[in-house]
Amino acid sequence: MGRKARYAQGHRRSVNGTGKTRPATAVVQGGRLPKWTGPVVNTPVWRASTILYPDTASLKDGVKTNADGEWFYGRRGTPTQWSLAEALTELEPGAVGTMLYPSGAAAVSGALLSVLTPGDHLLMTDSAYDPTRRLCDAYLRPRGIETTYYDPTLGADIVKLVQPNTRAIFMESPGSLTFEVQDVPAIVGVAKACNLITLFDNTWATPLNLPVIPMGVDLSIIACTKYVVGHSDVMLGSVTSGAATWNNLRLTAQVLGQCVSPDDAYLAARGLRTLDVRLARHSESALKIAKWLLDHPKVGRVLHPGLPDYPGHEIFARDFKRATGLFGFTLATGDANQLIDALEHFGIGYSWGGYESLALPTEPGRCRSAVPWTHGTVIRLQIGLEDVDDLIADLRQALDSA
Ligand SMILES: *Cc1c(COP(=O)(O)O)cnc(C)c1O
Repeated sequence: MGRKARYAQGHRRSVNGTGKTRPATAVVQGGRLPKWTGPVVNTPVWRASTILYPDTASLKDGVKTNADGEWFYGRRGTPTQWSLAEALTELEPGAVGTMLYPSGAAAVSGALLSVLTPGDHLLMTDSAYDPTRRLCDAYLRPRGIETTYYDPTLGADIVKLVQPNTRAIFMESPGSLTFEVQDVPAIVGVAKACNLITLFDNTWATPLNLPVIPMGVDLSIIACTKYVVGHSDVMLGSVTSGAATWNNLRLTAQVLGQCVSPDDAYLAARGLRTLDVRLARHSESALKIAKWLLDHPKVGRVLHPGLPDYPGHEIFARDFKRATGLFGFTLATGDANQLIDALEHFGIGYSWGGYESLALPTEPGRCRSAVPWTHGTVIRLQIGLEDVDDLIADLRQALDSA
């Protein structure tokens, strides 16, 4: 939304724009309505529990309209959170709104709990983030919601797994440990034909590289902790919804008491403004490193969907604007832990999406059930914003020593 439109318009709760503004512009302008920012550039941090009303008539009006983006009570947010939610909504053309959560894991559970009721059946990609699997196995199953894990490379054939009580299909592409690419249009086509709801964990690509709501997905989930925040200092999640699922998503988040602090929302919005340039650098450096690793004699497989020979690359090239900074590789010879310990420029730790590089040994075989993982230990790299040649030199010396 440009300057004149921002001043002219109030907060919209109808279906958002048609995607006429390009994403790199939307990410800078989104949610910065003057009634929220005041005369400054960024929406300030509004801390609140109680919201004061001038009189009892206004108090009653507040209850009656019950609108998002209007003052009500601290749990419903303040301009700081509304501004971030609105900015995320604008990145998914056709979306109706965004709910914020205190972590990406809470966003995944908030989305699934808004869709599923006891007796329902869920189709979950076998490449899903491990805590998402735990939610299905340890929480949903005892409450009468069954999950079938499916091969992430299934396209329209997923229809064979649909049961009479199937309610939803959950996708994550590429999988954040194993990097299989899913055929989203084919799966959404089956979902529409069978009247199923689709959810997509879009943490890896973000809506800048793959807006999924315009592809017909109902719920777009992001662990903002990763690229949106971008500085490894805030936990936050979001779910952006199309029209059909919005009311239930909003209701579920509200009755479960989900809210995020204005300080965290402020930092996430600040991160969001530079997302496009950061992703461009993450993406370029990661692809360069992936290509370099391909030629190294000690390297086995390189799991990067941007590589032309990678299985699923055609689907990737068709649907995604570009890759991001997270990918994996395996060793043909040598020890993964020894290699990681020898690295100088890569931190060792969970999470990713910050400005700094990380390396992690992972065992995808432990969290698979539909298709066994046969490639052993995967070294997962998060490529940060350092000089790429320093990172390559570091990987070279570590590979030599492993
Ligand atoms: C990290 C991550 C999450 C969970 O986010 P948190 O903020 O750490 O709870 C969900 N999905 C994917 C793909 C992730 O990488």
